[in-house]
Amino acid sequence: MNYHLVLTRRCNLNCVYCHGGEETGPGTEVSYSLDDLEAFISRDRTPVTLLLYGGEPTLRIPLAQAVMDRFPDATFMLQTNALLLPRMGVEYVRRFHSILVSIDGREEVTDYYRSRGVYRRVLEAVRWLRRVGFEGDIVARMAVSQQSDIYREVRHLLDLRDPQFDHVHWQLNVVWDAEGNWTDFDGWVERSYKPGITRLAEDWFRAMRRGHVEGIVPFLPIMYTLLTGHGSRLRCGSGIDTFAIHVDGSIGVCPISPDWDFSIVGNIWDTDPGTLRDCMTVDEPCPSCDVYDVCGGRCLFANKQRLWGEEGFEKVCGTVRHLVNTLKSMIPEVQGLIDSGRIGTEDFNYPDHNNGCEIVP
Ligand code: SF4
Ligand code: SF4
Repeated sequence: MNYHLVLTRRCNLNCVYCHGGEETGPGTEVSYSLDDLEAFISRDRTPVTLLLYGGEPTLRIPLAQAVMDRFPDATFMLQTNALLLPRMGVEYVRRFHSILVSIDGREEVTDYYRSRGVYRRVLEAVRWLRRVGFEGDIVARMAVSQQSDIYREVRHLLDLRDPQFDHVHWQLNVVWDAEGNWTDFDGWVERSYKPGITRLAEDWFRAMRRGHVEGIVPFLPIMYTLLTGHGSRLRCGSGIDTFAIHVDGSIGVCPISPDWDFSIVGNIWDTDPGTLRDCMTVDEPCPSCDVYDVCGGRCLFANKQRLWGEEGFEKVCGTVRHLVNTLKSMIPEVQGLIDSGRIGTEDFNYPDHNNGCEIVP
């Protein structure tokens, strides 16, 4: 099973779209012992992946290192803003299977959302990762909101060469309340996002003709499903095989929702990991949706909570449908490239472990 370990709820940034940076006061730090955590994890009979998460996990480097020492057989992932990443130490960073680094695209867009100077500091940290010989997957993880031009932000990150990202992933800023974040979501989707996705897909196919499948995370597994028929019940795995261990030792279906009662399904003292699997799944309209196998229901939290209301939920589904339909229209040509041996079906089979990329934006 996969566990997001929330190492602190604090963050050293306060990004405009995030509800995390301002977390202070009691209840922000891990209050269980590593012995208790080990007793829980040792009852899990499946291979364990630990995704270090926050807040900002690199604010608690000694704790992160102690966890990595405690579970030598686990697979580790890290989701970080990268500002303090080198302090983690070479030996520890080399143990990560994937490092998801928050960066939102071009410098002016990243710095607008995340603070001035952040873009350069993030790239410096990723150069350091490359310099010290990190061989895992470095994923540029974008939050996408009104100032973002999806085509230009993704292209910018894909085309960087010093440092180079292995994959680019994005999430739309559509989970929390739209208030203050969007002035014209509908207009942005129609005039910017959807045409940008179409252009990105066209570029993606051009690169495939040269034998290269670019690492655009949301495109890869969706194309894999369209090619093979292997569908998904929820691509982030929340409530199925992926859970969050919050700072107080409670276990939730999703790392972002420690304060929502529906999301808490146990705790590390009383819960047998075996009873967690498949404990929560998405509600309608997802299971009856015609693209459910491909979309997977996008986000368990949004499905249950619907902070954007029914109408808002459907608007976001419109972005998913555009993405799915764009990729679907490419199938005959992509299949042709596979049949000719230029690319392989397995090139789209990503990720090999759940690394915290939710896949569907
Ligand atoms: S497109 Fe919308 S309704 Fe359909 S499965 Fe995805 S989230 Fe659910
Ligand atoms: S996609 Fe939704 S349910 Fe899944 S981890 Fe992200 S916020 Fe949680």
